[in-house]
Amino acid sequence: MRMLRINGSRLLEDLKELGRIGGTPDGGVSRPAMSPADVAGREWYRGRVEAAGLHFREDSAGNLSAVLAADDPTARTLLTGSHLDTVPNGGRFDGALGALAALEALRTIREADLRLPVHLEAMSFTDEEGEMQDLLGSRALAGTLTSRDLDQARRGREELGAGMRRLGITPQGILAARREPQDLVAFVELHIEQGARLEATGVDIGVVTSIVGIRSHWLRFVGQAAHAGTAPMDERRDALWGAAAFVRDAWELVMSRFSPGVVNCGQIHVQPGAFNIVPAEVRLALELRHGTEPLLDEMEDALLGLAEEVARGHHLALETEPAAQCISASMNETIMEAIEKAATELGLRHMRLMSFAGHDTQAMSAITPSGMLFVPSVDGISHSPSEFTRPEDLLNGANTLLHTLLELVPGSG
Ligand SMILES: [Zn+2]
Repeated sequence: MRMLRINGSRLLEDLKELGRIGGTPDGGVSRPAMSPADVAGREWYRGRVEAAGLHFREDSAGNLSAVLAADDPTARTLLTGSHLDTVPNGGRFDGALGALAALEALRTIREADLRLPVHLEAMSFTDEEGEMQDLLGSRALAGTLTSRDLDQARRGREELGAGMRRLGITPQGILAARREPQDLVAFVELHIEQGARLEATGVDIGVVTSIVGIRSHWLRFVGQAAHAGTAPMDERRDALWGAAAFVRDAWELVMSRFSPGVVNCGQIHVQPGAFNIVPAEVRLALELRHGTEPLLDEMEDALLGLAEEVARGHHLALETEPAAQCISASMNETIMEAIEKAATELGLRHMRLMSFAGHDTQAMSAITPSGMLFVPSVDGISHSPSEFTRPEDLLNGANTLLHTLLELVPGSG
C-alpha cells in the first residue's frame, strides 16, 4: 500500500492564510497572545477545524483543539500540536507550522477513514511565547502553572485581565485546565529548528533528545576600592580583574568540558564606578544551559568552583545568589524512535539534537511521554520577519508528524 501523505497544498494554503492575520508589510507576523490579532487567528482556526468536520474544543485555559474521536468514548487521547501566537514582529512558521500540521494530520487520517483505538487531538496552546507567562496554556494543561505565575504576569495583572476577557477565560479557569495523565497516550510537537544545525548538515528532520534547562546566578566579586594612580598594581584587590578572568575562563571551561552546553554572562555592574577608582565590587549575571539535570548540576558546580578559585587567586571575596531556573525536559525514547522510523520510511535523513529554546513540549513532558521534531530554518533565523522554512521541509515535517502519530497508536508498529 502507498504510504499515506498529508495534503501539501492545503497545508501551505492554511499557513499562507494564517500568516495574513496580524501580517506585517515586511512579511512578518505580529500576533501576540490575547491581542485582537490573536483572537482573529483563533477564530480563523476554529473555522478551519469545523470545515474539516472535526470536533472543535476550547478548554478553560483557552487552549484550542481539533478532535478526531475514537469509536470507544473511553479511549485515551494521543495529543499533538503547537501554538498560534507569535512574538511581536515575529515570523510565519514558529508555532503555526506545528499547530496547522497537527490539524492537517487529523484531516488526513479522517479522510483516509482510519479507525484508531485512541482519540486524536490537535492542540493550539495559549500564549506559548510568554506575552503574559511562558508556556501558559501547556503549563495549565500539565497542572504546573500556579496562581503566583499569574500574579507575576509579564505585562501585569491589568493587561492579563484585559487579555483574558478578550479570550473569554478567567484565572480560575486557567488553573483548573489540568488533564489527567491516565487519559493521555503521548504528546508530539513539530516545530521549526530556530537554529542552523539541520541546514548546515543537510539533514531533513531533527529528533529532539531534550529541551535545555536553565540555571542562573548572581555572582558578587568583592575587593577593595583604591586610588587608581597611587595604589601599586600588584597590591590591588581589583574586583573587575577577577570577574574578567572568570568570564574568559568560564568560556574555555564550557567549550572544553560541557559542549554543546552554553554559558552566558549577560550583565555586569561595577562599583563604585569611576575612571579613577579601582573597582571594589562586581555583580555579574551568569546563565548556563544544558540538556539534563545531572549535566546542569555538574556544569553549575564546575562554574561556581571556578568562580571561587579565580576570586581566591585575585584576593577577592565571592558571594553567589541563585536567580531564576527552568528544569530541562528529556524526550521519550519510544517517541524518538517513532519519529526516526517515520522519517526513514519517508526517505528522509534525520539526526538527534538538543533544543536550546523552550517549547510547549517541555511543559507537556510533565504529564505524558513527549517528543518533538524539527525541520530546518533557513539561516537559523526565527522570531523575525525573515524567518523562513522551505515548502518541501514544511511538508516533510508534516508527513513525518503524521506517521509518528500512527506509529504511536497503541497496538500499531
Ligand atoms: Zn514556538
